[in-house]
Amino acid sequence: MKYDVIVAGGGPGGATCAEFLAKNDVDVILFEKGGNDRYKACAGGLMWHNELDFGPLPPEIIERDVDHLLLHGPTNFVDLQSDSNNSTKIGQLTYRNRLDCYFREQANRSGATVETNSEVLSVTNHEDYVEIEVKSNSHEKRVKADALVIATGVHGNKLHRKLKIDRPLEIQQAIQAEFYLPSHIVEERFGGGVYELFFDSKIASHGYTWIFTKKEGVSVGMCNKTVDISHFQDILKYHPVISQKLSGAKQIEFEGRHIWAAPIPDRILEHIFGDKVLLIGDAAGFIDRFTYEGIWHARMSGKLAAETLVKAKKRSDYTASFLLKYQKKCNRIFEIIKNSQKMHHLVYHSGYMNLFIDTMAKILQDKDLSDRYTKNIQTLLEGLLEPGDEIAQLSIEFQRRLLDALQKKLDKRTFRKINRLVEYAYFIK
Ligand SMILES: Cc1cc2nc3c(=O)[nH]c(=O)nc-3n(C[C@H](O)[C@H](O)[C@H](O)COP(=O)(O)OP(=O)(O)OC[C@H]3O[C@@H](n4cnc5c(N)ncnc54)[C@H](O)[C@@H]3O)c2cc1C
Repeated sequence: MKYDVIVAGGGPGGATCAEFLAKNDVDVILFEKGGNDRYKACAGGLMWHNELDFGPLPPEIIERDVDHLLLHGPTNFVDLQSDSNNSTKIGQLTYRNRLDCYFREQANRSGATVETNSEVLSVTNHEDYVEIEVKSNSHEKRVKADALVIATGVHGNKLHRKLKIDRPLEIQQAIQAEFYLPSHIVEERFGGGVYELFFDSKIASHGYTWIFTKKEGVSVGMCNKTVDISHFQDILKYHPVISQKLSGAKQIEFEGRHIWAAPIPDRILEHIFGDKVLLIGDAAGFIDRFTYEGIWHARMSGKLAAETLVKAKKRSDYTASFLLKYQKKCNRIFEIIKNSQKMHHLVYHSGYMNLFIDTMAKILQDKDLSDRYTKNIQTLLEGLLEPGDEIAQLSIEFQRRLLDALQKKLDKRTFRKINRLVEYAYFIK
């Protein structure tokens, strides 16, 4: 049987893509290598643009709403709290196995065929169709379609290689452990739903350590260029804040392991389309280069790929020259990632991570500024600011205060260098 579209990979990107395709009468089949209960190393943070762009998720998927973001430098920290009237939550928290499963169910309910425990082994790009080889449980089969969406995350490089297309080569590593804590202790120690981020170049010079709360427990992780299990275990045991917050917490085992490591792409691909092929999510390198958030990027690119393929079906044109439209549609994602790249450069490559984060935390201790900052955190993080608008003014004010504070601490030569970096990192001059 021949389908219109095959989606390889059933994470947030692939499942969202399959759902949108099916809703628009595209005959689509999705193959997911894993089973429904498989643990996926992910902090489960859904920044608020997920809800803004895709609508609310059912309450059974959500562990907690996030109303605090704690930013720690080595010597300073700030607790950014969302509006007391709760109209501007910072995000939500979930477990990935449940979230991915829900997305695949949505795709299936919309009419997509979804096969789990099915690994796409190889792909051949024929003149008029693509053909894949899939291993489902113990048997292998071949499936044809007009087009293929590669949504295999960072692990799916073999399909990229087979098609001789660009693949995410630069990889950042992340490591995570899950802990059980009774719900009332999570509330006492963390104040409920929290993203807690610890920046310290001595611990991770190219990333940070995090604690994200769940209903009954916390996910604790670290990302860096490379991560080492024993270093991570030392942080859990001896870091003055983290070890205290984890005191008495029971480490949870998934599939025989207490600690899970997974890669994160560290480079966006130049070409995210080819003849009869589109790349989405992590497989395209779509990830925030400062926070390493990627669920929204995967879902958004999945939706945009689907929109392009719906049009391709109407015109019976799956050539690269038509699918180029997808790359153009992704402009907002590219812009957001470009802005995050500037923060990446400033914080991870300047050599002044600790100074920046400590100074930012100090400035944001000003309640008036932090209230306005938190209220607009999504827009500020995305950095898509129009000169002259209110949030752009806030960004400028923050930048000015940051530079004033840094000027007092640095000699003239170093300050000139830092000044250039800060100005470069801020979208609005
Ligand atoms: C430790 C860690 C913590 C993170 N925390 C957050 C966070 O809090 N918030 C956030 O927004 N982002 C977070 N991220 C990033 C986020 O997990 C990814 O950006 C996101 O999962 C990308 O979605 P995706 O659909 O592109 O890929 P994936 O979620 O990786 O999905 C790809 C799917 O394809 C399947 N697959 C692979 N190869 C094949 C094949 N050959 N055939 C069939 N199926 C295949 C895989 O089994 C997988 O299910 C984190 C990442 C890590 C590593």
